[in-house]
Amino acid sequence: MSFEDYRGIWVFIEIKNEKIAPVSLELLGAGRALADKRNSSLAGIVIGENITSYCPTLFEYGADRVYVYDHTIYSDYRTESYMKALLHCSQKYKPEVILYGATSTGKDLASAVATDLPTGLTADTTILDIEEDTGLLLASRPAFGGNIMATILCKKYRPQMATVRPKVMKALPPEKGRQGEIIEESIELKEEEIRTKVLKVVQEMKKNAGIDEADIIVAGGKGLVNKEGFQLIHLLAQALGGAVGASRDVVEAGWIDHHHQVGQTGLTVTPKIYFAIGISGAIQHIVGMQNSSLIIAINKEPDAPIFQSSHYGIVGDAFEIVPMLIEAFSEEVAQHV
Ligand SMILES: Cc1cc2nc3c(=O)[nH]c(=O)nc-3n(C[C@H](O)[C@H](O)[C@H](O)COP(=O)(O)OP(=O)(O)OC[C@H]3O[C@@H](n4cnc5c(N)ncnc54)[C@H](O)[C@@H]3O)c2cc1C
Repeated sequence: MSFEDYRGIWVFIEIKNEKIAPVSLELLGAGRALADKRNSSLAGIVIGENITSYCPTLFEYGADRVYVYDHTIYSDYRTESYMKALLHCSQKYKPEVILYGATSTGKDLASAVATDLPTGLTADTTILDIEEDTGLLLASRPAFGGNIMATILCKKYRPQMATVRPKVMKALPPEKGRQGEIIEESIELKEEEIRTKVLKVVQEMKKNAGIDEADIIVAGGKGLVNKEGFQLIHLLAQALGGAVGASRDVVEAGWIDHHHQVGQTGLTVTPKIYFAIGISGAIQHIVGMQNSSLIIAINKEPDAPIFQSSHYGIVGDAFEIVPMLIEAFSEEVAQHV
């Protein structure tokens, strides 16, 4: 395999409910930095039906070029049809790196492509970098239960591929009117060659009270002692108009359901304000909330690790402090209603 033949950073652009998935824009931001470091270009690959209209947005968010596979056969995501388009494009244009969002579609597609291309795949990456001179992708992710960060390299094959967790990379501010090149591609693909058919799309009911979209999250941990103590978290969230988050231990104790869990095996969140109350600050929790704009921790132990990841810390008993906050915020909100 001649590595010189492989150039450019690619991002698989996921379209969901007729919108570009936010993770694809985040990956264009991350991909732009990698492409600039390598002095090469950044491309998006978009597969679907009636999708050329997304290209201007992709250029504004950093893509130099977009490969488009536009056909009714791609109207619904199906592993085989999307995989065949991506394989065709990758074999024809030979990118150095392909990034996918670690969504259910991205994970499914990336693993299917990796079984066909002679290359590997790093799953659920949270940090990306590239060696300027060799082009070696440094894809890092928590390993061994989150106790260490492992940097995974693909030294012998190209393209190098990774899925990246939503919300850990930052999209660039859009540059209005930025232009790029659209390359329309197609392959011979007949409906009868695809083994799956989408009969119906059923929208899932949202059970997580919008925790992944909330501007304010009040999260509680085992320091709240029991389900009754955890009610303080609900009351503070209510006073602030925020959503309720929780550590895994709280979820395992049955105080709240898994849709509220923040962390490695829960959700990654990036609210404007994140309260961590009675949460010790285990690495598996931190990886899920560390990119929040403002983190405020309340813990009775001054040495609790959560304080190292917080902008503001209050050392004290949650059962004394949280009721005071609820009262203060409720009054403040009442004055503005
Ligand atoms: C593979 C794996 C995946 C994991 N994934 C996740 C995950 O996704 N999310 C997650 O959260 N965890 C996860 N964990 C678990 C994680 O390691 C911790 O065990 C967990 O986060 C601890 O929860 P906690 O902070 O609520 O409880 P504890 O660690 O028990 O901390 C309780 C804290 O409350 C403080 N406290 C006690 N009383 C009070 C009081 N009255 N007022 C104020 N503070 C008080 C204590 O000082 C302490 O710091 C994972 C673990 C593994 C091995």
